[in-house]
Amino acid sequence: MRRPIVVGNWKMNMLISSSRKWVEELLNISDCAGTIDIVVAPPFTSISVVRQYLEGSKVLLAGQNLASIAEGAQTGEISANMLKDAGCDYVILGHSERRQYQRESDGLINKKIFLACQSGLNVILCVGESMGERNSDKTNDVIERQLTACLEGLSEDQLNSLSIAYEPIWAIGTGNTANPNQVQDVHGFIRSWCEKSLGKSLSRVTRILYGGSVNSQSSPALMAQPDVDGLLVGGASLRSKSFYDIIKSSF
Ligand code: PEP
Repeated sequence: MRRPIVVGNWKMNMLISSSRKWVEELLNISDCAGTIDIVVAPPFTSISVVRQYLEGSKVLLAGQNLASIAEGAQTGEISANMLKDAGCDYVILGHSERRQYQRESDGLINKKIFLACQSGLNVILCVGESMGERNSDKTNDVIERQLTACLEGLSEDQLNSLSIAYEPIWAIGTGNTANPNQVQDVHGFIRSWCEKSLGKSLSRVTRILYGGSVNSQSSPALMAQPDVDGLLVGGASLRSKSFYDIIKSSF
């Protein structure tokens, strides 16, 4: 019922030349057609070349961020409409790196989600706790607070295209993947929060992804969990072969 999804987040990596090589290599080893959604989130400067080289494939594009207003005097920002115009179908919002380094609040992320939905972008909303919060048994409280504030006021229609990525901060870029039981516990909690707060039918269709040091060794056991519908992959998505190995070993 929920179509699996694997998203590669390149963050602030890859020049135009390496982006082009990545796509060529990926399409060489796989036609990427099939029963799962494969999405790549290049930096803004590579979106156009990646789009051009992906032409004719089933791989979709995501933005890594967007501005909190629709258009106007915001030097250096990229709007939701611009991402859509550049060929993106998805946008990643609420990533912990943006929460930490750009001080993005849940309220700001909420504004961005509205704009993304207005522009027809599918939102991948990231939530997750720090190690300190996990150690003091606050994981579910943190997730609930983030979900409630980030999704406030959104209509059922807008929420239809939402995916949620559980990304424990302590697992991102550290090599410490959360174990499958830890992941299922939190995903189960997110699923029941969705049922309680968004309703039964949305909770059945909302995809919940796991992200945090995923590689092709850890991915099969993670994907085998009943509430894990996909993966958000950072470091291991930078090489087309390791990204492909994750896809191949998981489905
Ligand atoms: C991420 O930042 O979204 C991520 C999952 O990174 P990594 O896979 O490198 O931990």
